Amino acid sequence: MALFMDMTYDSPWMGDDVRMFRKTVRQFVQDEFAPYQARWREQHHADAEAWTKAGGIGMLLSDVPQEYGGGGGSFAHEAVVLEELARAGVHFGSSIQSIVARYILIYGSAEQKHNWLPRMARGQVVGAIAMTEPAAGSDLLGIQTVARREGDHYVINGSKTFISNGSRAGLICLAVKTDPKAAGPKGISLILVETNGLPGYRAGRPIEKVGRHGQDVCELFFDDVRVPAASLLGPAEGKGYFQMIDQLPYERLAVSVAAVATAERAVELTTQYVKDRTVSGKPLIEYQNTRMKLAECKTEAQVGRVFLDSCIDRFIAGRLDPVTAAMAKYWLTEREFRIVDECVQLHGGYGYMIEYPIARMWADCRVQRIYAGANEVMKEMIAWSL
Ligand SMILES: Cc1cc2nc3c(=O)[nH]c(=O)nc-3n(C[C@H](O)[C@H](O)[C@H](O)COP(=O)(O)OP(=O)(O)OC[C@H]3O[C@@H](n4cnc5c(N)ncnc54)[C@H](O)[C@@H]3O)c2cc1C
Repeated sequence: MALFMDMTYDSPWMGDDVRMFRKTVRQFVQDEFAPYQARWREQHHADAEAWTKAGGIGMLLSDVPQEYGGGGGSFAHEAVVLEELARAGVHFGSSIQSIVARYILIYGSAEQKHNWLPRMARGQVVGAIAMTEPAAGSDLLGIQTVARREGDHYVINGSKTFISNGSRAGLICLAVKTDPKAAGPKGISLILVETNGLPGYRAGRPIEKVGRHGQDVCELFFDDVRVPAASLLGPAEGKGYFQMIDQLPYERLAVSVAAVATAERAVELTTQYVKDRTVSGKPLIEYQNTRMKLAECKTEAQVGRVFLDSCIDRFIAGRLDPVTAAMAKYWLTEREFRIVDECVQLHGGYGYMIEYPIARMWADCRVQRIYAGANEVMKEMIAWSL
C-alpha cells in the first residue's frame, strides 16, 4: 500500500451533471468503441454506425444549444468526451465534428444552423474542416483553392490534404480564396460544402499514418465543383482567415485536453506495469530510477492538468485568449510526448510492441505537436505577445 495517498483533485469545471455525463460516455466508449478498435485500425476509420450511436447518447455536439439538436452543455462536456476517448486510446473524429459545428454556430445563418447542426448532433452527417493544402499548412495565407463566383453559385477548384474525417465527410468547412488577387488575409473565405453526390468532388483513400490508424485522414479534390452562393459562411466574403484565427483556440484547447488525459493515462498504465514486472528478482518499481522517472511524469501531468483546467475555466467564461491557448497547445503536447516516451522506456521492449497500449499511445500522440498549428508556430504566436 502506498505510504502517501493522493488527495482527490477535482477539476473546478466538474459539476454533478458533467460527472454523470462522464459516466455515460465512459461506459459507452468501453462497450461500443473499445471492442472494435482492431477493426477501425485495419479499415482506417470508425464504423459508420459509430457516428449515429455516439449521436444517440449525446456524445456529439455536447456544447451546442439544444435548439440546434446539441446537448446544451458547455466545453466541460466536450472535455469529458475528449478525455474519455483519449483514456481509452480511441481516435474518433467527434472533436472535428464539434469544431465544424462551432464555425456554423458562430458564423452560420439561421438556415445553415437549422440545416446542419441537428443532423451533425445525431451523427447522420460527418463534418470535416479543410484548411491544409499540399503547399500550405502552417502558412494559411498561402492556400490556393479558389472559389469563383458565377451568378448564384461558387465554382471551386483546388485540393486539400491531411483532412481528418475526410473520407466520410458529408459536410466540409472549406477554406478557399474568393479573391485570389486580394493581399494577405482579405481574399480568404469559408464555404460549407455538402459533398453528397456532388459532381467534381472526390475524397482520396485514407493516407497511411504513423499512428492514429483508426481515424481517417485523406486528400480532397475539387474540380469545377459548383455550390450555391448561400453556402458562404458569414455575411460577406473575405472573413475566413479571421474566422479561423478566432476559432483556433477552441481546436487547440481540445488538443490540449487530449494531451493531458493521455499523459495521465500513460502514468497510470506504467505505474501498474512497473509494479507487476519483475527484473533481476524484484519489481521494477523498486528500482530508484523507475520511481524517480514516474514521479517526474506524474508531477508534470498534474502541473499540466492544473494549467489546462484554468484554460477550460477561462474558455467557458469566454476569456481564453489566443496566446494562452497557444501556450496550452504547445506546452501540454510537448509534456504529453515526453511523458509517454518515458513510459515507453519503462516498459522496455514491450513498450515498443503495438499490442501494448503504451506503444500505440506513443505513435498516436506524436502528431499532437504538429497539427492544429505546429508548436513552433505556437511559440511564434506567444512571442508576439512579449
Ligand atoms: C494526422 C493529421 C491530421 C490533420 N487533420 C487536419 C484537418 O482535419 N484539417 C486541416 O486543415 N489540416 C489537418 N492537418 C494538417 C496540419 O494542420 C498541418 O500538417 C500542420 O498545420 C503543419 O502544416 P504542414 O504539414 O504543411 O507543415 P509545414 O507548414 O510545411 O511546416 C513544417 C514544419 O516547419 C516548422 N515551421 C512551420 N512554420 C514555422 C514558423 N512560422 N516558425 C518556425 N517553424 C515553423 C514546424 O516545425 C513545422 O512542423 C492534419 C495533419 C495531420 C498529420
